[in-house]
Amino acid sequence: MQQHPQQHTPAPNSPPMAATVADSDAATQHPPIVLRLRDVTRVYGNTRNTVATKALNGMSFDVYQREFISIMGPSGSGKTTLLNLLAGLDRATSGELWLQGENMNALSAGKLARFRRRNLGFVFQDFNLLDTLTLAENVALPLSLDGQHGDAIQQRVSATMQFLGIADSMQRYPYEVSGGEQQRAAVARAVVHQPRMLLADEPTGNLDSASARALLELFQKLNTQQQTTTLMVTHDPFSASYSQRVIFIKDGRVFTHLQRNSSQQQFFQSILNTLAQLEGTHDLA
Ligand code: ADP
Repeated sequence: MQQHPQQHTPAPNSPPMAATVADSDAATQHPPIVLRLRDVTRVYGNTRNTVATKALNGMSFDVYQREFISIMGPSGSGKTTLLNLLAGLDRATSGELWLQGENMNALSAGKLARFRRRNLGFVFQDFNLLDTLTLAENVALPLSLDGQHGDAIQQRVSATMQFLGIADSMQRYPYEVSGGEQQRAAVARAVVHQPRMLLADEPTGNLDSASARALLELFQKLNTQQQTTTLMVTHDPFSASYSQRVIFIKDGRVFTHLQRNSSQQQFFQSILNTLAQLEGTHDLA
């Protein structure tokens, strides 16, 4: 396995709390880095007949173990492109993308698929549960796909569903439960194999406000009690206020980072103010 480079100059856009890998190892004041992007670009349509679009244009940031991070940015800023790279569904045109010490750009397609299955969990806006399987069977899928069997699967599935408050619905089908419960089952499926990182794409987009709040509290619970490192793309400042840090992106680069160091209400207000700056509008405060 390839390791992170030990010497590294932090990019200008790194958060104030960022440290090099060597720093974090030596001083142990920061948890280890789970994800590192350095000058990542993704250029679409760079053939003769089409105009090239730099969807990502030199993106750099680090994610530390046990962080709960939101990614925000206007439409077209590169959020989907970024998620596709992190998910291993697409490759960067240039730059470095290290996930859990593995250089994603250097992995063969087969290794990338296996790495993705073992190390990442995904939650989407549309739940993406299979209607022909019970919730428990849906949650078991990542373990079955990884070749695990019988009792080990059952124990892990029931512990996870219990933790997420849906143990009573294990034998129900997705169409027999509420949207909020479906999304909780989708979260259970995403974390049942204890991935290194949970990636969520607008996870509250199809939920009513009470279910959205319950889901965000679950993300916090996973984060604090199971140390799940989470990266959530959202356009919703209220959802983002549940995380510990927001990375704002614009034109394919990091615009700024906002670390929560006050109440959720104050963080929410700071997020609104930063969004206003990002969009070049007046301060909303
Ligand atoms: P977001 O998710 O923030 O809306 P995207 O990552 O979808 O942003 O898009 C970033 C930029 O890349 C946009 O200008 C978009 O038009 C362009 N883009 C995205 N996908 C493609 C593609 N497959 N081919 C060409 N351009 C693309």
